[in-house]
Amino acid sequence: MTKPGRLAQDTCDRDPIWDREMETEPRDAAFARASTAWEKQFRHVMDHSPFYASRFRDAGINEARLPLREISRLPFSSKQELKQAIGETPPFGSNLCVPHEQVKRVYQTSGTTGAPSVLALTRSDIEMWTAIGTRTYFATGIHDHSSVLTTFGAGPFVAGHTHFVLSRIGCCSVPVAPGDTDRVIFGLKSGLADTLLSTPSFAQFLANLVTTPRGAGLDHGSTALTHIVTGGEPGGGIPEIRDHIQEVLGVTVTEVMGIGDIAPSLFGECPHQQGMHFCGGGHVWVELVDPDSREPMDLEPGAVGELVYTHLTREAMPVVRFLGGDIARIQGSDCGCGRTTFRMRVIGRRDDMFIVRGVNVFPSAILAVVGRFRPRVTGRARVIRKTPDVSVQPPVAVEVEVPDGHVNNTRLAEDIEAAIHSTLTFRAKVDLITEHDFGESGYKTRLTETRL
Ligand SMILES: [Zn+2]
Repeated sequence: MTKPGRLAQDTCDRDPIWDREMETEPRDAAFARASTAWEKQFRHVMDHSPFYASRFRDAGINEARLPLREISRLPFSSKQELKQAIGETPPFGSNLCVPHEQVKRVYQTSGTTGAPSVLALTRSDIEMWTAIGTRTYFATGIHDHSSVLTTFGAGPFVAGHTHFVLSRIGCCSVPVAPGDTDRVIFGLKSGLADTLLSTPSFAQFLANLVTTPRGAGLDHGSTALTHIVTGGEPGGGIPEIRDHIQEVLGVTVTEVMGIGDIAPSLFGECPHQQGMHFCGGGHVWVELVDPDSREPMDLEPGAVGELVYTHLTREAMPVVRFLGGDIARIQGSDCGCGRTTFRMRVIGRRDDMFIVRGVNVFPSAILAVVGRFRPRVTGRARVIRKTPDVSVQPPVAVEVEVPDGHVNNTRLAEDIEAAIHSTLTFRAKVDLITEHDFGESGYKTRLTETRL
């Protein structure tokens, strides 16, 4: 990297921080700003959300004011409960805090775990999402001179909001649908983009293609591509995955993260690659809680906990103490780029976590071990759970994707089992699976599959 907060190839003289006031303010100033916003927001929620008002009353909260420093007195809320609130009075449910005519945009969730759900936004909510997203993507190093090929699914989903964000930054946008590998390859080979937005699974898939005829000409330095921003799943922050993508394709990998119910882009990693900066200052309040007891934890470097979100300015369908399900490690706050907002890396989804002999394990730890065996593996792997229990008896069943010709390599399977045992201290039973059997797409990888 040549200049602080900037990608190596970036020679522009633009300020690399989009919203310097918000993104560089001291922690107490950020707290004061959030406190003021929360005072108004608490009243808004109490007055207009039957869903939260009744939950708060049930929790014994009757006061008209509740300072931000006491927010942990309020109950948590979950995706499941918000969905129920919609189901009771469709289409928007009992947490819609504005009249219907103020709803100006409606997104839907994928509905992978049941019926789709809706997310309603007012004009001001749309602007808030764009403002946060702009800080997020700008932080990764995308500037107005960038050309960005996007593979995130748009359609009914919140990921489509990224296009408003790229317009706000003023870069050139080259949209491609998810999974349309040929069009991505065409776009990259013909020099349409210097930046790719994709899942880490897809970026890895692309890196693996380089040694095949289809991917010839995509390797290090052969295209204009210099930057990949990963999102949609963890992986871009796992060194074994990131280093491979960076080396093969000759790019810098940074990652972003959002949560549909909160904001589609909320955390963005700067070119210093030290974890994702929180970019929602003034609009979203984040707490860290113990993953088991759910007791509040200090948001300090090294702390590992579940992230909990509260909207400070959302008008329609705001959430309070929403359990995001992501377990994160706090990396620190001060950064060479000048931002003072805290940085974090996601270790895994709470739902993916399992326990072996009393120790919490996330599948991402297995991915990191598997990644060492390239090129005999592709880098994808998943844990097979045979019971709904969170406790798993060793050997833990793991499926590892391998290129054609390696599927009967028992030596390889044994080597991976030994590496998992020595690194993670539990026994695993590794099955080698071809790319065809693992499931096409390469777009997104489910880290856990339950087969009862
Ligand atoms: Zn930074």
